[in-house]
Amino acid sequence: MSRFSAMMIFLTASVLLVLVPTSRAGAGWEYKGPLGPDLWHTEYPDCAGRMQSPINIDTAKVLYDPDLQHFDFKQYKQCNNCTMELENVAGHTAEVVFHGQPITIKGGSLPDEYVLDQFHFHWGENVSLGSEHKIDMKSAPLEMHIVHHMKHFAAKESATHPYGLAVLGFFFEIVPEHNDKFDVLLKHFEKISHKGNKTEIEPFALLDLIPEDAKTYYRYFGSLTTPPCYETVIWTLFTNKIKIDESQLGVFRTLKTVAVGGAEVSITNDFRPLQELHERNVISNDRNALQSVVHMLAKEIREDIKKLQQGCGNINPSKSNAAPAPPASTSCVIIRCLTSLVALGLLLGWKAVGRV
Ligand SMILES: [Zn+2]
Repeated sequence: MSRFSAMMIFLTASVLLVLVPTSRAGAGWEYKGPLGPDLWHTEYPDCAGRMQSPINIDTAKVLYDPDLQHFDFKQYKQCNNCTMELENVAGHTAEVVFHGQPITIKGGSLPDEYVLDQFHFHWGENVSLGSEHKIDMKSAPLEMHIVHHMKHFAAKESATHPYGLAVLGFFFEIVPEHNDKFDVLLKHFEKISHKGNKTEIEPFALLDLIPEDAKTYYRYFGSLTTPPCYETVIWTLFTNKIKIDESQLGVFRTLKTVAVGGAEVSITNDFRPLQELHERNVISNDRNALQSVVHMLAKEIREDIKKLQQGCGNINPSKSNAAPAPPASTSCVIIRCLTSLVALGLLLGWKAVGRV
């Protein structure tokens, strides 16, 4: 882990120690209506915190961290001596909970080993929306969250402990080809069509559901995206997407928000609106993020130079009939030279970082 990452963790831990409550009264919440996200903070004050999730990932502002490690997903390969239970949780989502022998993940520059608890999904009424996080303000039609807790704490305790939870997020894209690997899960959805339905399913390898290449990702510190919104989550959002076809996405929309006998309303748009980034940074081990930073710096430098030119006279007066620019003063020439040197240094510096 880089010094930058370590410093981020220290600073954020200091903030979390202040913000995380010791207990919270339970209350209902929904994705819309009088118990909707705008009012969650009235029952769950953490939902109004400054490190909330989900967020938009502005790729032009992502910082490249070459020290972010790849994950070790070895234990995702099997579910030995463990069971998997699929549930329509409160008419909010489809969730698979793991019981029995713990499955853990390592690596990913996480501060500890983390134990797999459950995975669940967020989806939309059409393909233009559904995911909780957005990339450059663009939604994916479906997002999967794999939730883990820190190995050295119990799951419940981890939820309120700084960095107690590690959630891996995967975006989906719709393609013409059917993804056979999801059939082991989706074939059971008819048994959880209504709120509160649950069923034990035949265990399968979670590794089969995620992309073969799950190396590059975005990383930031945030919260649970549902009440009580504890700000204890290390978020990892993978850049490579999971591919399924339209009919498979449709299976998610067959689930209902109500118990048997209620009005048959489908679960859709079970995502929380975007939250402010505030003083947080998003980092990534994707080299494209480096390019983003270079472009961002180059743009800022160009704008600074433009402002200086406007203040000192135009370096390259247009060939039109415009009046010639006044001659630049000596101080302006010096400022221009210094700015150009700083710009050159920054760009070369970033390129050198990219070769580490
Ligand atoms: Zn989620």
